[in-house]
Amino acid sequence: MLKIIQPIAKCALLAFSLISSGLTFAGLSEPESRLRERVIQQLPMAQQELAAAVNINSGTMNFAGVEKVGRLYQAQFDQLGFDTQWLPGESFNRAGHLQASYGNRGPKLLMIGHLDTVFGKESTFQRFQDLGNGKVAGPGITDMKGGNTIVVAALRALKAEGLLDEMQVRVVFTGDEESSGRPLSLSKKAIIEGAKWADIALGFEDGDSSIKTAVVARRGSMGWTLKVKGRPAHSSQVFSEEVGYGAAYEMARILNAFRGQIDGLGAATVNPGLLAAGNGQMKMDATNAIAMAGKSNIVPQLAYVKGDLRTLSPAELAQAQAKMKAIVAANLKHTEAELVFAEGYPPMPPTEANKELLSWYSQVSEDLDYGPVAAVNPRKAGAADISFAADHVEMAMDGLGLMGAGGHTVDEVADMDSFQKNIHKAAILMHRLAQRHKNK
Ligand SMILES: [Zn+2]
Repeated sequence: MLKIIQPIAKCALLAFSLISSGLTFAGLSEPESRLRERVIQQLPMAQQELAAAVNINSGTMNFAGVEKVGRLYQAQFDQLGFDTQWLPGESFNRAGHLQASYGNRGPKLLMIGHLDTVFGKESTFQRFQDLGNGKVAGPGITDMKGGNTIVVAALRALKAEGLLDEMQVRVVFTGDEESSGRPLSLSKKAIIEGAKWADIALGFEDGDSSIKTAVVARRGSMGWTLKVKGRPAHSSQVFSEEVGYGAAYEMARILNAFRGQIDGLGAATVNPGLLAAGNGQMKMDATNAIAMAGKSNIVPQLAYVKGDLRTLSPAELAQAQAKMKAIVAANLKHTEAELVFAEGYPPMPPTEANKELLSWYSQVSEDLDYGPVAAVNPRKAGAADISFAADHVEMAMDGLGLMGAGGHTVDEVADMDSFQKNIHKAAILMHRLAQRHKNK
């Protein structure tokens, strides 16, 4: 609810700021009101910076483009007096990451973004395009160049109001969120080290694309491979004492038991994404195209499945893995099976501290008359870089970025109303975190 009051001048400056907006917000302190004004003043610059970032192609494997976007943001952080570095990504076969640090007192805040998009150089979707009515199309505009620019704009407003020195900030914009370099121990090192340093991690992804929600829990995701072997024979001999059931039935038994035992285990899901069974040579190319040579009248010797397991907490992950291993070990006659888990994205569990951080953020939003912010259902939040930070900080929250629709498709469109709102919310939240730290 907006309250319109008569400006009562305590001093010339205050009178000016009240008159300039014509509005005041009962829930905002005086420095917060000034921050709010400052963000509005600086908004045209942020919009230009967003357009410039979107117009540079930075598909994950376009290393030069990813670095170019990184250098663009680097110059913006340099202007704010940050200590900035480009961290090269050769060791994990990606472009690299941008890191920027500021301050030496106050709460330690890690701000997470990513420079890459899912749109490679060959994509038809390359340009920032104003569609009118507050809608702007662009590759990676919500996922997540908008979020990156929100980080810069919030920090710029805090700096201009003399409030940035009350906090310590480390920004990590990774170059490979959409397709992470391997090993993850190298590609996620900057995020993990930032989190070990930080008290609080803030992610500026677009969450579930609603300004009414933020992310306090994400499921982790772990790939797995199942290889099953059976005794090859003419199909007429299946079920016999000598041949048994073959690799295909054993695969089916295992997958059906996964469904039966994992469905209902908390928020866990297990999905077999790709599979093949048969005799002879199986071929899989780099694009995951899978081919199995052979005939249809045989008991298959080999079955192969690739899938993922998603869980909300380390305990849930351990439980699900134990169940899956037990299922795989209980083989049908004359079959054997091997299950291998790959490196994964850890879960970000819904801790009380994360929920408390969300409640503070929601209060900021209400004090700005933007309405409350609720938690995203973790089933709707995919894995993201903040998952690597969550375990190492007191509090973590994501989904503070630019909202819109159509992420990861050529219909990606930003809702620019959320741009200013989420710059406001981030700047004031950070200021309040600093105040809270002082009063600890
Ligand atoms: Zn993203």
